[in-house]
Amino acid sequence: MRTPVAVIKCDDYREEQVDSAVRRGVKLLGGIETFCKEGERVVLKPNLLIGDKPGKCVTTHPSVFQAVAKLFQEAGADLFYGDSPGAGKPERAAKGAGIKDVADKLGIPPADFSTTVKITYPQALIAKQLPLAAGVLDSALISISKMKTHGFTRITGAVKNQFGCIPGLRKGEFHVKMPDTYQFSSVLVDINRFLSPRLCIMDGIIAMEGNGPRGGTPKAMNVLLFSGDPVALDSVFCKLINMKPDYVPFLKIGKEAGLGTYLENEIELIGDPIEDLIDLDFEAVRRPPDRMASSKSFPVFLKNLISPKPLIDYNRCTNCGTCVKQCPVNPRAVDWPDHKAKEKPLFNYKRCIRCYCCQEMCPERAISIKTPFLGKLIHR
Ligand code: SF4
Ligand code: SF4
Repeated sequence: MRTPVAVIKCDDYREEQVDSAVRRGVKLLGGIETFCKEGERVVLKPNLLIGDKPGKCVTTHPSVFQAVAKLFQEAGADLFYGDSPGAGKPERAAKGAGIKDVADKLGIPPADFSTTVKITYPQALIAKQLPLAAGVLDSALISISKMKTHGFTRITGAVKNQFGCIPGLRKGEFHVKMPDTYQFSSVLVDINRFLSPRLCIMDGIIAMEGNGPRGGTPKAMNVLLFSGDPVALDSVFCKLINMKPDYVPFLKIGKEAGLGTYLENEIELIGDPIEDLIDLDFEAVRRPPDRMASSKSFPVFLKNLISPKPLIDYNRCTNCGTCVKQCPVNPRAVDWPDHKAKEKPLFNYKRCIRCYCCQEMCPERAISIKTPFLGKLIHR
């Protein structure tokens, strides 16, 4: 039996449009009763990243969150919501992204995404201890991700969305412990296998291309995706942007670990014809992540000659310090000269593990990832 993924065309964020598209997508997968029982505790997990306003297209749009929430409320779910942002408090990020206002209007309380509960998970590929948000445990998890590019994992969507179930700065610890993209992807697969999201929905009405997940360019893709399988859903996202799923390590690792499937012949597309929605020009990096970039054993001078590195555009940089605060290595690989915020930050590439957290969180789109000339020749 093939894994169903519903592809629903939706041209804009008007409430009636989105409500009807969400209802149709869930119905095609068997109806809301397939995904929750009356009185069951259900947590909706949008992508809040750092709480940018909806117009920036960084976060799950409030109208998508609202349509999903209404459907689960009608089914009698005991509904909560939340995400742990890359920086700051969950409530603040939810307010900024317009999600809190919707939740307050519908009477949905926040789940606890600040308290960490250490979980032992012997079946894990790599993360046998998982520090998870207390609020997502013992609940049915509904993942409502945003369709975006990502510097470290190529894309962020259904699978990566669950990384926000790790509270606060604990996320950075994983980057330090598992700097290799493939190791990190195994952690993502472990989190997903443990939490087992019951339904994954992706907001691709206006996606983000280029320098994502925060500094890219909004791009209308006019689509919502639905599936019980986060791997299959991300594989369909890849198809929509003309990206080989092989370039996204957590898809292959997820398949091997039994999380889901990315293989086209094992996925059943339902809903609207996908051919009309594919964007061959979607700006994304179409090659596998560079393993040398994060290898501890690779000589640093060669790494700096070959591996993609973060660069600051000082014309855009406002010296806000977000990149400095986000850098997870100690001592930091991006810092102010003499640790004083008088001048703009500089990189120390000898220390940099190429996690691209700085690029991910820069609010001014001032950090991009550039591949050195030699690296470009080799990757070609
Ligand atoms: S996060 Fe961006 S704007 Fe802020 S200091 Fe770093 S490079 Fe400059
Ligand atoms: S400088 Fe940026 S890419 Fe390098 S380790 Fe720090 S956050 Fe990661």
